[in-house]
Amino acid sequence: MSTALETEEHQALRAAVAALGKRYGRDYMTTLIRAGEHPRELWAEAAKLGYLGVNLPEAYGGGGGGMAELSIVLEELGAAGSPLLMLIVSPAICGTVIARFGTDAQKQRWLPGLADGSITMAFGITEPDAGSNSHRITTTARKDGDEWVLTGRKVFVSGVDIAEATLIVGRTEDARSGKLKPCLFIVPRDAPGFQRSQIDMELQAPEKQFELVLDDVRLPADALVGDEDAGLLQLFAGLNPERIMTAAFALGMGSYAIARAVDYARTRQVWKDPIGAHQAIAHPLAQSHIELELARLMMQKAARLYDEGDDMGAGEAANMAKYAAAEACVKAVDQAVHTLGGNGLTREYGLASLVTAARVARIAPVSREMILNFVSHQSLGLPKSY
Ligand SMILES: Cc1cc2nc3c(=O)[nH]c(=O)nc-3n(C[C@H](O)[C@H](O)[C@H](O)COP(=O)(O)OP(=O)(O)OC[C@H]3O[C@@H](n4cnc5c(N)ncnc54)[C@H](O)[C@@H]3O)c2cc1C
Repeated sequence: MSTALETEEHQALRAAVAALGKRYGRDYMTTLIRAGEHPRELWAEAAKLGYLGVNLPEAYGGGGGGMAELSIVLEELGAAGSPLLMLIVSPAICGTVIARFGTDAQKQRWLPGLADGSITMAFGITEPDAGSNSHRITTTARKDGDEWVLTGRKVFVSGVDIAEATLIVGRTEDARSGKLKPCLFIVPRDAPGFQRSQIDMELQAPEKQFELVLDDVRLPADALVGDEDAGLLQLFAGLNPERIMTAAFALGMGSYAIARAVDYARTRQVWKDPIGAHQAIAHPLAQSHIELELARLMMQKAARLYDEGDDMGAGEAANMAKYAAAEACVKAVDQAVHTLGGNGLTREYGLASLVTAARVARIAPVSREMILNFVSHQSLGLPKSY
């Protein structure tokens, strides 16, 4: 793709990550998925090269960059067929929230590990009875002396098994108004009462999803991230990076699929010319290429606004980027599978499993419809139906 809009540093990062991705690639990922393993070697090597914490402050071992850099890392690993999903949650959401709002002690405790990849942190907000309506979450924290006691349930939380801790969105009762307000808690994987069960997903990915039960999980006072009264602000600070990174995830997968399809269409010949000469094959691939490029532009805009500290402006752009990238990815994967004919559905070519995987970006972390709602209300000023 054309990279002229990016700084030389960003272009160099993109090329370096692409080279790393190429050394691992889809075969590496497929082999370890089948073996039930995690991409430990790729994670460790990306960490060593400083890619995993590229967005985190230098004072804590990070690269001192922002979402512009981290999104390049995820996109290029994905374009090579070996995306690291946990980049969305660990450095992007959890790292950002702790770096921006954590106490000094929390930053010391978590950021160096998140930056050098030795610590992975999951993020749990979705609840079975709340779903897209996060105002409805009921995971509640009550104070007991110096401790917090958390009770509730979460669902679809990714990577809890490999994460040292999970950043859980709960609510505390406001002592003055009695109202519940959102708060973020760091829950260690082995905290008593913190139970997880793996959800049987039809997804071929090394990262698994879990249902969580928090049964009177006792946490020390410093498990609460930052300020009890600024929970909502803190939560939103993590959600824009999440959307930007989901866009990067989708762009990587879409680009990977189109590249495979183009390779195939160039050489597969059943009439006089390779199938790529037929416009019915070429045009949809060209269309997908355009749509992925356009989505990337919006992702770059969102990352720029976010890194410049414009949380509000970044909110709209990050939602639009996530929407555009997810839609482009779903379409690109569909077209790629079709381009390969019967081979599109073989295990050998490995594209069919992406049909399911591509849908993840349309649903999570916020569904296509909730983004359309956001744009209807926030950008267009239309009334709300709910
Ligand atoms: C692979 C995967 C990984 C995930 N990882 C995590 C994670 O790490 N942490 C985490 O907290 N969550 C995670 N999630 C959860 C994800 O964020 C939710 O699935 C998502 O927010 C949608 O919630 P839901 O599944 O409850 O769907 P629902 O909210 O039940 O929505 C169902 C359908 O109804 C539509 N809908 C709902 N409300 C409206 C409305 N007002 N207007 C129009 N349409 C509407 C939705 O768009 C959707 O199509 C993950 C999900 C998946 C699939």
